[in-house]
Amino acid sequence: MTEIKDILTKLIGFDTVSRHSNLALIDYVQEYLNGYGIESRLVPNAEKTKTNLYATVGPNTAGGIILSGHTDVVPVDGQDWSTDPFELVEKDNKYFGRGTCDMKGYLAICLAAVPAMIEADLKRPIHFCFSYDEEIGCIGAVDLVNEIVDNLPPVSAVFVGEPTSMQVANLHKSVNSMVTQITGVEAHSSKLNLGVSANLAAAKLINFLSDELDNFRDNPQEDLTSLEPNYSTLNVGTLHGGNASNIIPKFCEFSVDLRTVPKDDPHKCIDSYRAFSRTVEERMQSQNPICEIKIIDRAAAPGLAPEENGEAEKLALDWSENEQAIAVAYGTEAGLFQKAGYSTIVCGPGSIDQAHRPNEFIEIDQIKKCESFINKLIDHLSK
Ligand SMILES: [Zn+2]
Repeated sequence: MTEIKDILTKLIGFDTVSRHSNLALIDYVQEYLNGYGIESRLVPNAEKTKTNLYATVGPNTAGGIILSGHTDVVPVDGQDWSTDPFELVEKDNKYFGRGTCDMKGYLAICLAAVPAMIEADLKRPIHFCFSYDEEIGCIGAVDLVNEIVDNLPPVSAVFVGEPTSMQVANLHKSVNSMVTQITGVEAHSSKLNLGVSANLAAAKLINFLSDELDNFRDNPQEDLTSLEPNYSTLNVGTLHGGNASNIIPKFCEFSVDLRTVPKDDPHKCIDSYRAFSRTVEERMQSQNPICEIKIIDRAAAPGLAPEENGEAEKLALDWSENEQAIAVAYGTEAGLFQKAGYSTIVCGPGSIDQAHRPNEFIEIDQIKKCESFINKLIDHLSK
């Protein structure tokens, strides 16, 4: 436990809020692994300001297990913390600090287990996959997954350690976020013959999305009642357009967050939205050719679907001593691994209820449960 606490103290001390670099944290991890003779490989972003890391403990053979987690955390701006969020504080059998629960606690447990992994003389490997920019849409893991598909021998299971209170999650929705930008033509509100309203075009598009949502509601995925709600959803979270009531608005922008159940293909939904937007755009352009509608994809993380006889689920249920898998409401990187062909589940210490909040904490008891899970995993791979 002291080892886990020491490592977690270090990890919490790095301010890896997604808008900042994670390189200092990665340096620390790399050096730590080096100390055990383990080489890390890096998959940086284009600007080289952030990087993913992956590393293999044990023989470089097939049949290993990937332990996956993200190194970034959500911001603390505007949150009322009673301690320094970037300093680990132990109180009431809990560790407080930004990322203790989501999800540096998991990373610390994985790293602290390295000596035990080496000692166990693994027959099949344990691979660490640590990503950046998960919190802003699972961005870093895209390249990381591509890289490991090319470079790692076949793997039997992937465990993503997002906080599930050590339950096993085999199901979550896809998360897709987009921004729609509409350019019309400004004019005095009385001169509709001169202007083209960006806001009215936005209203048409949002109406289309609202109809889509009604359609989703009417077509739930009946076999997945553990999802709440068990239909795909759409949210227009922000909407900004126009400057004054007597000016025809030139510009309007709104954001859309689309979350789909496994039976609905998010790309199909986005494609039909794009097709509809073109008809609205053509109508605007017939009034003035400078009008334009742009739909920009911000982030997309595929959903996680239950696997038939999934190896990851079988092993995780056994080691976490759970009877059955659950669904989670949030998105994770698990869908990226599953989409690449890996048997994948989500299982990690701490409760999502504590994530992203001021005074985020993880119960030490949860850390112990996860430690026991990792010990069983080591045991399994050393036989
Ligand atoms: Zn997370």
